[in-house]
Amino acid sequence: MKIAIIGGGLAGLTAAAYLSNSPDTEGTVFERSPQIGGRAFTYEKSGFTLNFGAHAVYGIDRHTLHNMENELGLQFQSKQVDKRKVVYAKHEALTPAPLDFVNIMKTDVLSKREKVRFITEIAAVIGHLHQLKNHRTLGEYLDHTNASQDVKELWEHLVCSNFFISPEDARQVSGEVIADYYHNLFLSGRPVSYILGSWSSITNQLRGKVEANEKWNIALKEPVESIRMENGKYILNTKSREALEFDRVVMAMPVQQIAKLLETTSWNQAFEPYKNNTPNEVLVYDIGLSTVVSRPFHYISDMDNKLFISDVSATDHTVAPSGGQLLQGIAYLNDDSLSEEEKKQYLDNKVQQMEKLFDTYYPGWREVTEVKRMSKKAMVSSVKNIVTNRMLPLQLPDVPFFFCGDGCEGKGELAERAFSSGRSVAKLLLSRTESLAH
Ligand SMILES: Cc1cc2nc3c(=O)[nH]c(=O)nc-3n(C[C@H](O)[C@H](O)[C@H](O)COP(=O)(O)OP(=O)(O)OC[C@H]3O[C@@H](n4cnc5c(N)ncnc54)[C@H](O)[C@@H]3O)c2cc1C
Repeated sequence: MKIAIIGGGLAGLTAAAYLSNSPDTEGTVFERSPQIGGRAFTYEKSGFTLNFGAHAVYGIDRHTLHNMENELGLQFQSKQVDKRKVVYAKHEALTPAPLDFVNIMKTDVLSKREKVRFITEIAAVIGHLHQLKNHRTLGEYLDHTNASQDVKELWEHLVCSNFFISPEDARQVSGEVIADYYHNLFLSGRPVSYILGSWSSITNQLRGKVEANEKWNIALKEPVESIRMENGKYILNTKSREALEFDRVVMAMPVQQIAKLLETTSWNQAFEPYKNNTPNEVLVYDIGLSTVVSRPFHYISDMDNKLFISDVSATDHTVAPSGGQLLQGIAYLNDDSLSEEEKKQYLDNKVQQMEKLFDTYYPGWREVTEVKRMSKKAMVSSVKNIVTNRMLPLQLPDVPFFFCGDGCEGKGELAERAFSSGRSVAKLLLSRTESLAH
């Protein structure tokens, strides 16, 4: 079976690594960029390892990466963010983030009575008993519950930070999605970890798996420009080659890009319900410093302005040169209803808020900055997981392709959905082939 995978991001590489493990397959991963990784692309500058995205993994012991380690024999190291060094800033005061029992007892974001309430809520989520799962959205649950304002704010803030979204969007996430997500995360012994050496330590291994099978290859700088079907085969035209023939096609890219590729085909209609899906975007502000200017904590989340700074190098020492420090600032955006002029103003304002946070907790950073990278509208998830959006299934009725990516149905959020849908789509395709063979 000859397979084309379109997209060499985390989802496409995962699908290719599983599929190329089977002796009955051959194939090509088409990637339009000069490098693999997609939004998990990593590059080096002045000794710093910079990610287009970020490489925090939530609940790694219960994560799809854990399955992939066992099934594909991946080997990578990860390090847990020190929970005692994770703080929330509220009204200019710092307090431990209530991530576990010890921090809940120490935090000032909740009063004594609210701490008891919040611990009861966590127990209910772990026991799958929390009523949140019965509400259409977090917002609806918060409107109905008799919890205090601080407990409500904490729920909203948790969802902002784990889903990388604004408070307005957090209220639009389905109660069931949140209950499932935190059931998993609260049971994890390792809530937030970094993959040492960033995503490239995984993508390079996935690439190695694919290329170890000589019937498979990865074609870089080769965007697929059109697809048609002839006599039961898929005919692909890329930027540099014409009429490449395949038996199966997996589309491993954001649904918005799939819809564009198939715009002029008869399959276009099937994407109608997914065309208006909105992505979630953030502002990213990375700074590489020649010396460690200060290290009072490893992650600081500004609850008032909804932005955070990770001292990535405090956990992953591989990303900065010896003695240096890599800080990553991220701001959740909510600028959907603004005019172009207002959006510009809004983003400039976010940059100023971020720089103010750097000034407060990392004084002197400007003088020792070696590398600066800003991305004002980075797409974190191609489909924001809110009730008005719909995740793309791995297959659609009357459309002959398979799909995977972080905008597809799958386990977890962010990169985990890319990994899990890539893994599932490969298993689905292989099981179909086996059943045909018998
Ligand atoms: C700022 C930021 C922070 C993030 N932080 C985290 C985090 O801390 N933890 C986490 O788990 N996740 C995080 N993420 C999310 C994670 O990076 C993404 O979910 C994941 O990389 C998506 O992978 P994907 O394979 O689904 O899509 P993509 O990475 O978008 O891959 C799709 C690929 O398809 C290629 N392509 C598109 N069209 C064509 C075509 N016609 N022909 C050939 N190739 C094509 C693209 O070039 C791309 O390489 C973050 C993302 C960002 C941007």
